[in-house]
Amino acid sequence: DDAVVQKTVNSSAIYIADLESSLHYSLRVEVARFSVLTGDRLKALTMYLSVLKKYFPARPYLRTLLSSLHSWLYRQRGKIVTYTDFADVLNNKDQKQKAVLTPNVNFVWCQGSKPEFRGYPCSVWTLFHMLTVRAAELGSSNPHEVLKAMCSYVRFFFGCRDCAEHFEKMAAESMNSVRNMDDAIRWLWLSHNRVNKRLAGDATEDPHFPKIQWPSKELCPDCRKMINNETTWDTPAVLNFMKKRFSENNLLYDYAE
Ligand code: FAD
Repeated sequence: DDAVVQKTVNSSAIYIADLESSLHYSLRVEVARFSVLTGDRLKALTMYLSVLKKYFPARPYLRTLLSSLHSWLYRQRGKIVTYTDFADVLNNKDQKQKAVLTPNVNFVWCQGSKPEFRGYPCSVWTLFHMLTVRAAELGSSNPHEVLKAMCSYVRFFFGCRDCAEHFEKMAAESMNSVRNMDDAIRWLWLSHNRVNKRLAGDATEDPHFPKIQWPSKELCPDCRKMINNETTWDTPAVLNFMKKRFSENNLLYDYAE
């Protein structure tokens, strides 16, 4: 039987357990598929760690780890890095400081009704939105930094290769319209909705979590407005909603180790 024990979740919150699960899976499973890291793939990993270090809402031991991983990678630039050496830093082998990333996945909001649904890809979207909002919140003035880092992570490491190709195409078509930090948040929200539209009714859709044009009316009553008898997005309200939803204040630590 593949029934899943459902956790009690608050659908308005973001769970740190989902975000940390995403990091664990990306760094220990996806990146681990490359026993040797060099060139543009190594650069992509370094950029990813750079935005994680700056904008991931990390607890102290994880903050230390992200920082040492990033500086170690930065020192390896232009070299050939083995995954084994990277993993030694990731797993804090020398133990000079307390630094740790959860060794398991533990999805909360992102848990599917069956093991084949949701999980990691859901946590990647959550992480990605979180990083665009946090960068704005922390006063970054480079709206392409997070988008570029995440796009190149997807391009070089994301396990679903179809997804990566679709996503790269979409980014190439529209990402250059992003001019400021708010645009970056909006661009990702819109792009995610385009993916939702394409996948609605697909075999990969969890019947308990249908793909909708997000956020739902229930989640954000102010996000839609009527113009000439047609419902459209109230974009400023959506932006506001995104900033609240993905702010550090809206993080829950339940179920996190
Ligand atoms: P997800 O779409 O993963 O969303 C996670 C959560 O984010 C939702 O539960 C909701 O709370 C919130 N959310 C939903 N929409 C938005 C939005 N517009 N803005 C902000 N938050 C939102 N699968 C494919 O089969 N084909 C693909 O081409 C494909 N491309 C992908 C590209 C990327 C970059 C990623 C990260 C994933 C891709 N996937 C693709 C996987 C797919 O998009 C879903 O992640 C997966 O099906 C799990 O869906 P889910 O129901 O958990 O919701």
